[in-house]
Amino acid sequence: MSNFAVRAPWEDILFNKKLIEDVAAIAVDTALLQGVLMRTKEEPNTSEVVNYAPFSLLPSVVPRSLFEEAKAVQQDFNLLVDSVSQDFQFLKETLASTVKVDEFVAQLFKIYKQVLDEGMVQSVFLGINRSDYMFDCGPDGNAALKQIEINTIAASFGGLASRTTDIHRHVLNVLGKSEEASRLLSNRPSEGIAAGIAQSWKLYGSCKAIVMILVEDIQRNIFDQRYIENELWKRKIPVIRRTFCDVSKRASLDKDRRLYMDGQEVAVAYFRTGYMPQDYGAKGWEARLLMERSQAVKCPDIATQLVGTKKVQQELSRPGILERFLPTKPEAVNRIRKTFTGLFSLDMGEDGDKTVAMAIAAPDRFVLKPQREGGGNNIYGDKIKMVLEKDGRSEKRSSYILMDKIHPQPVKNYLLKVGGGLHLTECISELGIFGVYIRQERELLLNKQVGHLLRTKDVQYENGGVAAGVAVLDNPFLL
Ligand code: ADP
Ligand code: MG
Repeated sequence: MSNFAVRAPWEDILFNKKLIEDVAAIAVDTALLQGVLMRTKEEPNTSEVVNYAPFSLLPSVVPRSLFEEAKAVQQDFNLLVDSVSQDFQFLKETLASTVKVDEFVAQLFKIYKQVLDEGMVQSVFLGINRSDYMFDCGPDGNAALKQIEINTIAASFGGLASRTTDIHRHVLNVLGKSEEASRLLSNRPSEGIAAGIAQSWKLYGSCKAIVMILVEDIQRNIFDQRYIENELWKRKIPVIRRTFCDVSKRASLDKDRRLYMDGQEVAVAYFRTGYMPQDYGAKGWEARLLMERSQAVKCPDIATQLVGTKKVQQELSRPGILERFLPTKPEAVNRIRKTFTGLFSLDMGEDGDKTVAMAIAAPDRFVLKPQREGGGNNIYGDKIKMVLEKDGRSEKRSSYILMDKIHPQPVKNYLLKVGGGLHLTECISELGIFGVYIRQERELLLNKQVGHLLRTKDVQYENGGVAAGVAVLDNPFLL
């Protein structure tokens, strides 16, 4: 618990409209200078015209103790994800009801099973994840760190987040707050992520092999990925970018199931796509299967992607489950469990019936979540009632989980978005911590926390996401 000191040292300045206008113009130019960039909605596949990625004019106050708590639990989450990803029986049982009604999870699971039945040849495993939290504010004004979700595939903004600190440092300097500016934390997730990819490339053990980044057809967020890509080139590791469609047409396996793309051996396949049904297209599943069957280090392998589903998150919160995966680490179990809020199963049976009744009776207390990533899919308020009154008695309900709604204390800021104007806005923030780990066969060789991401959004939006156009990049100012 931590008392939420909502007063930022620059709060009075927020109401000085003229000064804010001047500083906002400086902030936007600084973002461009720092390379905090995105391609435009109109031309997402060329860098001829680019713009700044959305960001907040000022950093947001974050309680220091909760920030430290989030950082400290990251290695525990890395261990947990890695451990769960090696337990076929658990994943099978946990996802059984979901697989029946969710075509996307069913496809992933089918590939997972097929690869295990054939016998896995991948021996190096690289996890790059981001655990996201909000600061849940109780009636006594105390805040607690509560996990929203953990992203085990395509966790983004490690690149751009490595450049946003310098924007806020400059803005605070211009506002005469140089002491505060010097207290902003340095943050370089792109380096830690690239170091993880580089180490697994080396462990793969073929100096001519390459890293292949799997990318979407529409690539607005390319700059975020380029930071990581360029870090790899600096280490003399060749990188190519390919879509699932490219892979389905031009990739192959040799007799030892080494993966080749356009004639080059692939050491690491790093996915920045593949987390939504629409990422796959006609040939996408064939491409995914081919890569999964290969020796290449997949980041993530398909089991680790499944660990990131909301259904697994909910199951991990049941009594005794964390202990099963971290049997010799009671302190890690406690640290992890402390970040959980209420998570409820909607599987068929008595417990699921109770969850339905509870949600219909008080929909505003909860969030209803399908097994989807990428923002914009969650269901809130009266719509929860509608969905559960319709599907609450059928198996369809098990495509969702129910979660307690987290209530952060809103704070004022200006959210700078291209064409969005300048408005003083009530905002809430979500803190993400990046984790990287590497396992070779049974041995864990790396387990690190490599940086953070703060995203801030207008309180009136219930769903989040920077790529979805709702949230903006931000930095924590620890108090
Ligand atoms: P996705 O995989 O689509 O990112 P999330 O679980 O992260 O799904 O939810 C998307 C957004 O919805 C979050 O960024 C957050 O803003 C909001 N959200 C999710 N869960 C909760 C919750 N329990 N309480 C309040 N807001 C939530
Ligand atoms: Mg999310």
